[in-house]
Amino acid sequence: MKALWWLLGSAGLAVLAADLLGRQFGLGALGGGDAGGNRVALTFDDGPSPQLPALLEVLARHEVRATFFLTGELAERSPEALRAMKSAGHQLESHGHVHRHALMFTPWGEARRLGWHPEPGRKERLYRPPWGGHSPFTRLLARRAGVKVALWNAESRDWLAQDGAALARELLPTLGGGAVILLHDGPDAERSARTQALLEVLLPALRERGLDAVTLHELEPRPIGWAAGWGRVRGMWVGNSETR
Ligand SMILES: [Zn+2]
Repeated sequence: MKALWWLLGSAGLAVLAADLLGRQFGLGALGGGDAGGNRVALTFDDGPSPQLPALLEVLARHEVRATFFLTGELAERSPEALRAMKSAGHQLESHGHVHRHALMFTPWGEARRLGWHPEPGRKERLYRPPWGGHSPFTRLLARRAGVKVALWNAESRDWLAQDGAALARELLPTLGGGAVILLHDGPDAERSARTQALLEVLLPALRERGLDAVTLHELEPRPIGWAAGWGRVRGMWVGNSETR
């Protein structure tokens, strides 16, 4: 009986440590780019959604290329969406085969989820876990699958039921060189309209401030160390202005 409690306790601690170090601190995952530079990266999770063409139109009109972290299940159903993103010069990466928290998988299930990528043959491949969630095996499995875990350091909060333009105005003062902004493609028309409204305010304002929105390849995000990790943790508890 004692051994069972010891085992359960150790497993619980491993889960807590993975969440704290992997998701909250983000230690060793790719975070932001050069803070002294003038580049930022827009990253869109959860697509491709049925609203993708409208989102691509906004990006094209503002002459911006972005990075899409795609869900395998959805991507496999719409090869034409992948072609549209690719031909517009956007970067395609993995958000996992299915959109579920890492703790919902067995280690071999998580390995399968991590093995999916929209461009499997490519040399440098990125993986963004849904919600940034980590199991005790996530980093090990990512390394084995040859993918780098890529997080973000600025949240658009486009999942909140608020006016898109207002969200952009809240986000803007928190942004500087090297920002990797978390946004979403869909999942429904209402949320996509909010994200598009946010972009209509954000993109001209970035340009006005001399900040270029580029893909993650171009931004060259850096691994998160203890100092940047501590900034992330404080941001989660203190507020959006500290997420960088
Ligand atoms: Zn997601």
